[in-house]
Amino acid sequence: MIISADRFLADLEALGRIGWVDGEGMDRPAFTPSYDAARKFVEDRMKDAGLSAKIDGVGNLFGRLEGSDPSLPAIYAGSHLDAVPGGGKYDGPLGVMAALEAARTIREKALPLRHPLVVAGFTGEEGGEMGGTFGSRAFAGLLQEPFPAEKLSRVGLTADGILSAKGDPGGIACYFELHIEQGPYLERRSIPIGIPTGIVGISRYAVRLEGEANHAGTTPMKERKDAMREASELLSEWFAWTDTRDDFVCNVGVFSLHPGADAIVPGRADFLLEIRSLRDSIMDEAAAQFRSLLEKRKKVSVSMEPVVWKGAVDLDPLLQDAVEAACREADVPSVRMPSGASHDANPMARITRAGMIFVPSAGGISHSKEEYTSPEDLARGADILARAILEADRRL
Ligand SMILES: [Zn+2]
Repeated sequence: MIISADRFLADLEALGRIGWVDGEGMDRPAFTPSYDAARKFVEDRMKDAGLSAKIDGVGNLFGRLEGSDPSLPAIYAGSHLDAVPGGGKYDGPLGVMAALEAARTIREKALPLRHPLVVAGFTGEEGGEMGGTFGSRAFAGLLQEPFPAEKLSRVGLTADGILSAKGDPGGIACYFELHIEQGPYLERRSIPIGIPTGIVGISRYAVRLEGEANHAGTTPMKERKDAMREASELLSEWFAWTDTRDDFVCNVGVFSLHPGADAIVPGRADFLLEIRSLRDSIMDEAAAQFRSLLEKRKKVSVSMEPVVWKGAVDLDPLLQDAVEAACREADVPSVRMPSGASHDANPMARITRAGMIFVPSAGGISHSKEEYTSPEDLARGADILARAILEADRRL
C-alpha cells in the first residue's frame, strides 16, 4: 500500500467515536454540536497535514494541498461528515478521511501531483431540514432561490451563506468519492473494490385508491368498495410484473388505510411507490406500467401524483478507467457496478467529472449501527483512492 493504513484507520476510528452512543449508534446529524466537533476534528487533522482548511457558507469543510502546476483546476475528493440517526461510522467519513490520507501520503512521500488536491467534507448529505445532499448541492449551485428563511434560521444559515458556498466549476478538475457499498453486491462476489458506472435515479409517486368506508360486518363482500383489497390486488399484479425485470428496483415503504379501524372496510388506501433505475427512461416506463395497472381498478377512484423525480447520473468513464488502472497497479480485483444509493457524487456530477469507489458492506447493511466494513477493506479502498487520484492527475 502507498498509504499508511494504521494512521488512516486510527483517525477513522477516532472520528467514529464523536457522536457515537453505545447501543444506539451514531448521533451526528448536520448542524448539531456533535457534527461541529467531528468537523473540527477533521479540520485539525487537515492543518496537521499541512493543508489549508476552510469552511464555507453552509458548513462544508475543504482542505487544500497545492499541486506543482498552479494553473490547473483542483482534483476534489471526499464525501460527507454527517450521519443518519442511529447510523454507523463509515457512511460518509470513510471518503473524507481516505481523501485526507491520500493528501498526507502525497505530501509526505513527495509523490508527483500536478493538480491541487482538495479534500471535501460535505455537510447535510443525509437529509433532514434542508433535504439530502444539501452541502454538495449548495457547492454545485443547484439550490434554487427563494430559500426557506425559517428553516435556514433554525440551522443557523443565511441565504447569502448559501450563495457564497457555490464553487467555481472552472476551478474543479474532477471529484472522487470513496464510499461503503451499502448493499451486498461486492461481499457476495468476494470482490474488494466496486467501480460504480452511474448512480440510479429515484422517482416517487403518491398513490391513492378511494373506495367507500362501510360496516365490516353488515356490508356484503360483493358490494364492498374496499380500498385495501383493491390496493393489495394491484400491488400483487405490480410485483409479479417487476419480478420479470432486472433493470430497476421498486419499493412501497409507506402505506396507510383510512379510517383505519378494525370494524370498518377501508375507504381509502394511500401509499408511496418508489422506483430507482440507472436509466431515466426505464423509471418512466415502469411508472407508466404501474399507472396502467392502477387505472384498471374499477371499484375505486384512483390517483397517482409524482412527488420526487431525480434523474440518474452517469459517472465519468475516464475516472472509472483511472480507478480500474489503480486496482491493476495494486493487484486488487474490481468490478463495475451501479450505485443504488444517492451520494454527494450525484450533485458533483452535474458540474464536473465524478467518479466513485465502493468497498464491501458486511451483510449489505447500512444506515444502521450494525454497519461494518473490515479494516482491510477500508484501508484497501483508501489506498485505491490515493492511487486513482494520482492516475487521474496524470490523465487529466
Ligand atoms: Zn453516504
